[in-house]
Amino acid sequence: MKRTDVFWDAPAEALDRERLRALQLHRLRSTLERVLCSPFYQARLGEAGISPGDIRSPEDIRKLPLTTKQDLRNQYPYGLLCTTKDKLVRLHVSSGTTGQATAVFYSRHDVDHWADLLARCMYMTGARPGDTFQNLTGYGLFTGGLGFHYGAERLGLLTIPSGAGNSRRQIQLMRDFSTTVMHIIPSYALRLMDIMTEMGLDPRKELSLRIAYLGAEPYSEEVRRRVEEFYGIDVYNSYGLSEMNGPGVAFECPWKTGMHIWEDAYWVEVLDPETLAPVPEGTLGELVLTTLNRDAMPILRYRTKDLTRLLPGECPCGRAHVRLDRIQGRSDDMFIIKGVNIFPVQVEQVLMNIAEVGNNYVIILRRENNVDEMIVKVEVTDRIFVEDMRHLQRVQKKIAHDLKGELLLTPRIELVEPNGLPRSEGKAVRLVDERKI
Ligand code: ADP
Ligand code: ZN
Repeated sequence: MKRTDVFWDAPAEALDRERLRALQLHRLRSTLERVLCSPFYQARLGEAGISPGDIRSPEDIRKLPLTTKQDLRNQYPYGLLCTTKDKLVRLHVSSGTTGQATAVFYSRHDVDHWADLLARCMYMTGARPGDTFQNLTGYGLFTGGLGFHYGAERLGLLTIPSGAGNSRRQIQLMRDFSTTVMHIIPSYALRLMDIMTEMGLDPRKELSLRIAYLGAEPYSEEVRRRVEEFYGIDVYNSYGLSEMNGPGVAFECPWKTGMHIWEDAYWVEVLDPETLAPVPEGTLGELVLTTLNRDAMPILRYRTKDLTRLLPGECPCGRAHVRLDRIQGRSDDMFIIKGVNIFPVQVEQVLMNIAEVGNNYVIILRRENNVDEMIVKVEVTDRIFVEDMRHLQRVQKKIAHDLKGELLLTPRIELVEPNGLPRSEGKAVRLVDERKI
């Protein structure tokens, strides 16, 4: 028996696959009608010789052209808009992590639907009216702030729009208003741990936190574990991108076995980034998404560049929506050194398993006399920094040894005192490739 009280929107979450498919086909067709209002898609579909009538099953989506971030940049600001300006109520731009930003527009329907999606996500993890929700992410153009904010209000949580930074004040707010649920990017969750440790504060005893949503940048299972243990909470992975509204695209349920991607709102494909052919379920590839319920700026087959896989099987929670594995990173995050392909998160995974390693690190790639070198700067914990040189050397050796096991090459390890590495205001910068400077 499915328990409907665990669903925020039971008709949308717990429907069977067949009904979900029918809904998707219906929404896909109306999306196609809608995109024809934008000059960009009019031209694209014209070139491809496709009209909405050609879509007879959701899989026919493969006949449609892909959309890239570069398309969005070229069409900046209004090229993908499918409505008149008087119907718009919001504008966001992506963080610009990988180049020039792109603009996304929302109608009243879009902001409403987006708030519903986030309310659905938070409800799924057990957040309920009566909870205090603190949103420790940047407000403003970044979608993480307002996206979660309106979702939390929709759900009926007491919402504290504390924004990012000003950590002592954040902690004060958590204490004064007994915050139970927080949204925070992983690198800031780690930073806040250091600050609480410096203050001698034990969040398990002195705060009321129960749940945290971590997302907006790649992080490893090991970071989740550290954060859960330190704060004494459940961490849920949260995925989204501005081009698809923002957060609320995919989210973990209490089973924490991958993130349910809301298939009533997004059509999901995972493609081989080279050949662009679909990869089998369970195989790593590039996530490609189509909006199914967007009004102002629908997007067809958007190449996210995010690498992940679809997980096979049904989730015990009873939601029909397929699950995505943890995002490994963007294809742009991968770097090649001495012929080895590496994602920063692979390095993180090894580091965060070593007790003496602190909560921050950076990877530097350098070329000297035509030889590439990988340097990993690692903050160590307070406790070991005051200890003797021999212990530090042992730690250094252990890190190099464990990284070699994962990466098959031995980077140079530099240990740094706690808080010795620079922190970025928003998403963490984990890689500095000096070979490109
Ligand atoms: P930008 O693309 O400029 O960083 P966004 O704020 O829209 O702007 O960021 C969306 C991107 O953030 C995603 O495409 C993905 O690469 C990353 N991201 C978001 N959530 C997660 C997550 N849970 N795990 C890994 N990466 C994530
Ligand atoms: Zn589930």
